[in-house]
Amino acid sequence: MQYDHILIRYGEMALKGKNRKHFTRQLEHNVKDQIRSYRKAKVERTRDRMYIHLHGEDHEPIVEACRNIFGIHSFSLAIRTANEELAIKQAALQLLLDNPAGTSFKISCRRTNKKFPIDSQEMNQRIGAYVLQNSEGYPVDVRKPGVDIMVEIREQATYVTGQKIKGPGGLPAGSSGKTLLMLSGGIDSPVAGYLAMKRGVEIEAIHFHSPPYTNERAKQKVIDLAQTLSKFGAKVKIHVVPFTDLQVKVHQEIPFGYSMTVMRRMMLKISERIAEQNGILSLTSGESLGQVASQTMESMHTINEVTNYPILRPLITMDKSEIIDIAKQIDTYEISTRPYDDCCTVFVPDSPKTKPRREKVHLYEGTIDFSSEIERAVKGTETITAVPELEEKAPFADLL
Ligand code: ATP
Ligand code: MG
Repeated sequence: MQYDHILIRYGEMALKGKNRKHFTRQLEHNVKDQIRSYRKAKVERTRDRMYIHLHGEDHEPIVEACRNIFGIHSFSLAIRTANEELAIKQAALQLLLDNPAGTSFKISCRRTNKKFPIDSQEMNQRIGAYVLQNSEGYPVDVRKPGVDIMVEIREQATYVTGQKIKGPGGLPAGSSGKTLLMLSGGIDSPVAGYLAMKRGVEIEAIHFHSPPYTNERAKQKVIDLAQTLSKFGAKVKIHVVPFTDLQVKVHQEIPFGYSMTVMRRMMLKISERIAEQNGILSLTSGESLGQVASQTMESMHTINEVTNYPILRPLITMDKSEIIDIAKQIDTYEISTRPYDDCCTVFVPDSPKTKPRREKVHLYEGTIDFSSEIERAVKGTETITAVPELEEKAPFADLL
């Protein structure tokens, strides 16, 4: 069927009072960005809805993009008609016939344009009768319809829509500021990034890389993860920090049980510096309480001491199985489980302290000067940009 619109509903955003315009503008920007290679499609924003005018573009890839755009509560493919009874009836019939025979249906009419002479109840009946007369094997079911055909009679035109497709909900990426996501190659941190993005937070990523202990493929894994995340918002910058010298020094100088704690503190210090340089006001990590030695309450207390930046920890109360479910759903699981070591698995001691204390760390760090290594790591940071993968069309495809 040739659809000419996609109607987007905002859901939660609509409740946000004065912020609403800010959120809907950001959503409009993100939708445009995600569908930019479908050049004929145009986005129109109104107070409580958004419309993608397809202008002949194929609806399927655009539907796929909408499933991933935060801030979209639900959306429907729509046919636009003039505010005329017969045209509306025909569109409803067309939408029903697009479903397999046997699908039950209901008509739900809403008339916001009070100048239209027939009220919603009456329209429900008239359209229902017309559809029944002109189709076979599509029963009415007002309680649990297989498809709810919605008819909205508005000022300029009527929109007739079939199935409601669920969007991911949340708030549009970029509407709640930016965070620096500490992105390892593991399962957890990409999920943390995804959940932060779901609350409208834009992300840049920081990755600590320790060549030759970790290789180019480990770095590629992180780039691929960032690219996968980029489809939920916009492009993602990745700051790759050369971490080898610092890690080697920590490993040599700090008593074994505390090397991981100190290494984590270094990561946070450097992350804060990179955040500051880029005007970012928070950090995000994939920590989950109790999961490993560095994620106990005592560890977090000791590691967190080096920064007063807020650290978002979206996974903090989640079980591993819940995290894995999300990772699978957002297509990061397969990338995360590729078998390359990250810098932590290379240097991690067999038995790190699970209850490291601040006083002990002060004692161990006090005798060693790490500042030049930190400085070099910050200066040597390389920035890469991961862009959402789009089926870019050849520029003149339409003319061929
Ligand atoms: P993940 O699956 O995200 O690696 P994890 O369960 O393996 O998490 P840790 O390795 O202890 O946990 O790391 C805890 C958090 O510290 C990670 O979720 C991530 O945010 C951050 N982190 C760990 N290693 C790195 C790294 N090499 N670069 C950037 N951040 C890292
Ligand atoms: Mg890890």
